[in-house]
Amino acid sequence: MSISDVLAAYSQIRQQNELEMQRRRREVYARIPSLEDLCGKLETLMIERPLRRLSGQSDNGEEIDALRARIAAALEKEGFGAHYLDPVFSCAKCRDTGVLDDASHCDCFKKRLLEDKLDAARLTDDAASFEKFDLGRFDATPIENGRSQRDMMARIRDICMAYADSFPDCSSILLLSGSVGLGKTYVSKCIMRRVIERGYTAAGFTAYRLFSLFHQHRLGEDVDLDPIFEVPLLIIDDIGTEPMTKNVTKEYFFDLINERTAAGRKTVIVTNLAFHDIDERYGERIFSRLMDARDSQKILFKGKDIRY
Ligand SMILES: [Zn+2]
Repeated sequence: MSISDVLAAYSQIRQQNELEMQRRRREVYARIPSLEDLCGKLETLMIERPLRRLSGQSDNGEEIDALRARIAAALEKEGFGAHYLDPVFSCAKCRDTGVLDDASHCDCFKKRLLEDKLDAARLTDDAASFEKFDLGRFDATPIENGRSQRDMMARIRDICMAYADSFPDCSSILLLSGSVGLGKTYVSKCIMRRVIERGYTAAGFTAYRLFSLFHQHRLGEDVDLDPIFEVPLLIIDDIGTEPMTKNVTKEYFFDLINERTAAGRKTVIVTNLAFHDIDERYGERIFSRLMDARDSQKILFKGKDIRY
């Protein structure tokens, strides 16, 4: 998708919202026929306003305000809500143009462009969600200090839900560690879904795919890494399974974590590696970044493999 595709998407949004406005007018006029006349009058006054100003006539602003108030009162009386006939915009800041008055791009435009670039990594119809999180799948037999795997998963679910609900006011790094089949990937997808549902942009990559992109970039291929560095929430699954490539793996991984953290972006890392294995594999620099007590949350998954 290119910028012109994104602009075309805005034109579609405007058309849809225009249709919605027409539908609302028909609905209202059917119930309050007198409003059709008043709304027509208001429209005429608003068109006249700048013309009057140009030709030195008195301003009709007061007349417009009075008419607006009459229309709002009539709408409210019929239970429509005072602003029911106001223009419908998906983004009020740029009025669905993607561009602000000072000609800069609106935030919604940047978000849309980033999302288009991340298309392949976006959540499609994955079933994972906190709502469907099934604690019943985890063993209820006490295994540690009288606590069962189910107890521990309930706690992990709550911590991760709080992380997603407080995003972007959460720690820069969330590290989900533990052996295979304990539900780490599932939990990370729940976080991603919740953050997206809250209106933020998030993307998930397997380490394998992510580091392949880094490798291609290193070889000088035309790979756009910006979305990976810029997406507000990045989830990297299966860190530690990617091939270790000289001058790529550690270097790109460190830059990624470092730049994202410095820019206030959040990264969830899912790994089968134990904490000390991370140190061994990636070295002190990355290890201390990931473990930074002030800015990193670490969760250890324990128990039995729950996969079928
Ligand atoms: Zn906007």
